[in-house]
Amino acid sequence: MTDILNFINGEYVKNASGKTYEKRNPVDNSLIGMVHEAGKPEVDAAVAAARAALKGPWGKLSVVERCNMLDAVVDEINRRFDDFLQAEIADTGKPARLASHVDIPRGAANFKIFTDTIKNASTESFEMRTPDGKAARSFGVRTPRGVIAIICPWNLPLLLMTWKCGPALACGNTVVVKPSEATPSTATLLGEVMNKVGMPKGVYNVVNGFGVDSAGSFLTAHPDVNGITFTGETKTGTAIMKAGADGIRPVSLELGGKNAALVFADCDFQVAIDTVTRSVFENCGQVCLGTERVYVQRPIFEKFVSALKEKAETMTPGRPFDPATRIGPLVSKIHQKKVLGMYRKARDEGATIVTGGGVPDMPDDLKDGCWVQPTIWTGLPETATVVTEEIFGPCCHIQPFDTEEEVVNMANNNRYGLATAVFTQDVSRAMRLSTEIEVGLCWINSWFLRDLRTPFGGSKQSGIGREGGLHSLEFYTELRNVMVKY
Ligand code: NAD
Repeated sequence: MTDILNFINGEYVKNASGKTYEKRNPVDNSLIGMVHEAGKPEVDAAVAAARAALKGPWGKLSVVERCNMLDAVVDEINRRFDDFLQAEIADTGKPARLASHVDIPRGAANFKIFTDTIKNASTESFEMRTPDGKAARSFGVRTPRGVIAIICPWNLPLLLMTWKCGPALACGNTVVVKPSEATPSTATLLGEVMNKVGMPKGVYNVVNGFGVDSAGSFLTAHPDVNGITFTGETKTGTAIMKAGADGIRPVSLELGGKNAALVFADCDFQVAIDTVTRSVFENCGQVCLGTERVYVQRPIFEKFVSALKEKAETMTPGRPFDPATRIGPLVSKIHQKKVLGMYRKARDEGATIVTGGGVPDMPDDLKDGCWVQPTIWTGLPETATVVTEEIFGPCCHIQPFDTEEEVVNMANNNRYGLATAVFTQDVSRAMRLSTEIEVGLCWINSWFLRDLRTPFGGSKQSGIGREGGLHSLEFYTELRNVMVKY
């Protein structure tokens, strides 16, 4: 068992009051360690360290020197790949196959893409004549925004944290990270990497704890924080936006979703089945971009339902390093209770349970883990709870449709607007739908395909702002205009 500490001003620290909470492994509920919850004094110290570091050696580095240091962070994460893998898996229980291909490599790559971006980012420049016959040139200069608070969820802990921390540091800011209470380990471990590469003290800080009346709300309310970037639930995003309003601090919000997949009868059936299998069940359904509503055109409806059922039933749950494991547990007992509550709700509202709907039968040593069965429903109206509300579990409802117009209306009839996946071989239809469906991300015949130079974010209640490539600079820098008369 280990102590999971806060990382403030280059040092690992406990909290003044000695307050801790248990971090348990979702695979078997064994105790991983005690997390030292940051109180107000620790959050104040972290923000003060971050503010001081803006003026210290960090603020005096050239862009290239700064980027070289962040490239060294990438190398060090890769050198300690197994430590990050073990830490991420202990916190989340996800299969090693997944974490070693997605979480850790992408967690490292998120630094590299932004060092490349910032080194190559240009600004505009205009010349004009002045009324007195002279000339003036205006040009843009990007400066760091200051101290950035990064509030993270638990589903892809390292990846989603470095997606914010990478651009924030590449742009010359300093950061205070608040990982999810459920997954504190990799953000905390990254402190060791920062020290190893010689990152100046106070540039990267981590405060552990919860949201309300804990590290999260202390951090977002802190007047010395200059910007808040958040990934998590829409309800939490609302609270964070309100916190940002005090002091007019900008927020970047990546929030919840209730993503639809649209499968047309003219699709490549195998591509659609293989891709929707991933988009529904990958990471045990705990992916913000995952599909929970599947719409299938009537001629192939029955065939699609039985093929997806067959796929769902091959998802063997098990230990992360067991090569036979195809699906891990949910992240926590709290989340398991929420998902099982939704499973009950689907039954009560009259769903046909095609497969799953409960807890799988696990061997004795895993019985206490946070397991749920991959689940498929049909037969519900579009107003049913599991068709309208985000569940964040390995489940979906499949609805038949007849016309393109009908399915666009159903897909759009939701308060969220994060992502969609469309399966059709008709290019004209694909082009039409890519603008008609109200989302930030639209995949055609694919899912989770990401070019990190492109904008990422949600529309409607799925978020505010876009991050990725040059778009991240909008949030992580102040674009100032300089005018020179000559
Ligand atoms: P959550 O909103 O419950 O928690 C996220 C973080 O916010 C945690 O660190 C939590 O401690 C903190 N927090 C909670 N209340 C707070 C408050 N009042 N002030 C400050 N901080 C507070 O989300 P979660 O359950 O960790 O993650 C799952 C959610 O995240 C889902 O809704 C999912 O769709 C969303 N998500 C969105 C994206 C995206 O890119 N749009 C990516 C991943 C996850």
